[in-house]
Amino acid sequence: MKAKFGLTLFVNMIQNYLTYLDFINKKLQKFFEAQSPYIFCQKGCAKCCQDGEYPFSQIEFDYILKGFTALPKETRYKILNNIAEIKLAKKNFTGDKFLYRCPFLIDNECAVYAHRGIICRSFGLIYTVEGEEKPKIPFCAYKGLNYSNVFDTETGIMTTEKYKALNIPQEPLAYNVSYDFLTGEHFEKMYNFKFGDKKPLIDWF
Ligand code: SF4
Ligand code: SF4
Repeated sequence: MKAKFGLTLFVNMIQNYLTYLDFINKKLQKFFEAQSPYIFCQKGCAKCCQDGEYPFSQIEFDYILKGFTALPKETRYKILNNIAEIKLAKKNFTGDKFLYRCPFLIDNECAVYAHRGIICRSFGLIYTVEGEEKPKIPFCAYKGLNYSNVFDTETGIMTTEKYKALNIPQEPLAYNVSYDFLTGEHFEKMYNFKFGDKKPLIDWF
């Protein structure tokens, strides 16, 4: 009886998380649309999945696992193999910050796209961080991708002159879409679920 109650609670949490995801997806879509003159994301570009930490909360991990279990057996094997290789590399790593290619990136595409995490959904926009004066710029601005048409890689700043020279009506904007904000308590209260612990994706395995 107790186990059944636990399962019902889990199902409700996931359902509430999905409602939250729907809200976040719609917001992010609007932000990406508003910034479209500066966004160069396209199918096949997966640079942001190749060298990161990928913070994931418990509920995000539970949800991505749902996507994983629905994959064909061959793809699951590839992912499990990736995970084993990354775990081994991490074990032998002696630096400060272990960065890795996401294990779900298969043939340069996300194998669990519909179930991906919050960071995967928001990445690519400029965003603000509470307590920090300067907005954060996606690393791909340095690689000729997002915001690179208005970003000076030498000075590391974005100038209004650049966007005006391009005759783009909407200036580049920084949104409140940091991972900490998007996975904050306010959303847990609003949608009645818990994100749970947070750690790099690879540490969940
Ligand atoms: S956020 Fe940057 S690296 Fe990622 S898909 Fe978009 S352009 Fe490519
Ligand atoms: S889950 Fe998918 S979108 Fe997110 S980092 Fe991994 S491959 Fe990229």
